[in-house]
Amino acid sequence: MLLSDPSLLKQQAFIDGQWFDSEHKFAVLNPATAQVITQVTDCDSKITEKSVQAAQRALPSWSALTAKQRGAILNRWFELIMDNQQDLATLMTLEQGKTLSEANGEVAYGASFIQWFAEEAKRQYGEVIPSANPNQRLLTIRQPVGVVAAITPWNFPIAMITRKAAPALAAGCTMIVKPSEETPLCALALAELAQRAGLPQGVLNIVTGLDSKAIGGVLTKSPIVRKLSFTGSTQVGKLLLRQCADTVKRTSMELGGNAPFIVFDDADLDEAVAGAIASKFRNSGQTCVCSNRILVQEDVYDQFTDKLTAALKQFKLGNGLETGVNMGPLINRAAVDKVNALVSQAISAGAKVTTGGQQQGDTLFYQPTVLTGVNAQMDIFNNEIFGPVAPLVKFTDEAQAIELANATPFGLAAYFYASDMSRIWRVSEALEYGMVGINEGLISNEVAPFGGIKESGIGREGSRYGIEEYSEIKYLCMGI
Ligand code: ADP
Repeated sequence: MLLSDPSLLKQQAFIDGQWFDSEHKFAVLNPATAQVITQVTDCDSKITEKSVQAAQRALPSWSALTAKQRGAILNRWFELIMDNQQDLATLMTLEQGKTLSEANGEVAYGASFIQWFAEEAKRQYGEVIPSANPNQRLLTIRQPVGVVAAITPWNFPIAMITRKAAPALAAGCTMIVKPSEETPLCALALAELAQRAGLPQGVLNIVTGLDSKAIGGVLTKSPIVRKLSFTGSTQVGKLLLRQCADTVKRTSMELGGNAPFIVFDDADLDEAVAGAIASKFRNSGQTCVCSNRILVQEDVYDQFTDKLTAALKQFKLGNGLETGVNMGPLINRAAVDKVNALVSQAISAGAKVTTGGQQQGDTLFYQPTVLTGVNAQMDIFNNEIFGPVAPLVKFTDEAQAIELANATPFGLAAYFYASDMSRIWRVSEALEYGMVGINEGLISNEVAPFGGIKESGIGREGSRYGIEEYSEIKYLCMGI
């Protein structure tokens, strides 16, 4: 193993403060080599039920601590994650495929949520409301939601957990996390470090397993679980929302996107190319905020295409553990098949490839690709690609750019490059998205609210708003 601390490689689920084994296991694969990294406990609905009970038992004492006491444990967790950054990044590259430098970035980004919410929990103020009745005094207090479940994806195996766990635990909730079956190892390593940080037993439980339907079924059905926080596809998000309806759970949903990246004729083209590469190609295009459609104004279209194509021709595709590699593989066969299908459909409908356009042999590596001549009728315009393909769409004026940008049921992230200040305001306000990058291709961090509108989701993560998702406002009316 390549870890300096091999005890960070865990193969068992983490329930009630114990490493929990079962005779059923599933294999975790390295997408760069197709080799099995290890086998991990495959939890069923019974084990999931145990984790819910453990979280329920842990709730009274955890929620009774002061925010400062919980913050001290969370801050130790943050420190331990940063002390073990390189090992966590290595585990991430092994099971997820992103380059080691991106993985290191994600560990720091993921840890930043823990540090932020360790502090933010101390500022969960209530308020005193001026009363309408002279014989009453009115106030509010904030209390933890209770037992919370999180179902997380594989594209950010650490950050998608900490972005939920940090505010939940800081607010006084206890938690069950079901990580993606593709990337359970990072989740388990996080739990090991949480235990070393002194997190009491049962406060954070990690249920690993292949049968996401069964595990998700227990978590959504249980009346003990008061909230579900989900990051993943819109299709599964809708299903889980329906399942949560029966027990009227609170939900936070971070779902799919179809991000437009608009390059206006007054943009700095070199900056726009750099921003497009950052937003489109990191994690091999597998993020929900990756630009999915690059809309370029007609008089700069050819120049932008040439610059982007030239930059991508320098990209080195390969195993993320090797130095000098800019981009790793896609996560699995289904991901490659989807990209292949979208690119073929676009080409048969008239799009042209200026670089890339192919899977490498029979591997999970897909070349960084630029397609020109893409239009709004093509599948690739209307579907989340989740791969390293930049479809370029030509537009004539600002009104058409906005119309094209908003022509989707999704509303997560949007980006545009321009210099005219009036245009920057107009376009920022007209885009129907939860987040807008203006002359910036990378926008997420722990201090800003991350989240979408329309079918991209409900709620916000990170920032001072992120912790509100895990607390209830209680109104107290005192007769005097
Ligand atoms: P992605 O396309 O990013 O894999 P998914 O929505 O399929 O997105 O998966 C996100 C998370 O949801 C993963 O942890 C996965 O195991 C889980 N998941 C998938 N289907 C279900 C389901 N029916 N019920 C509960 N969880 C599910």
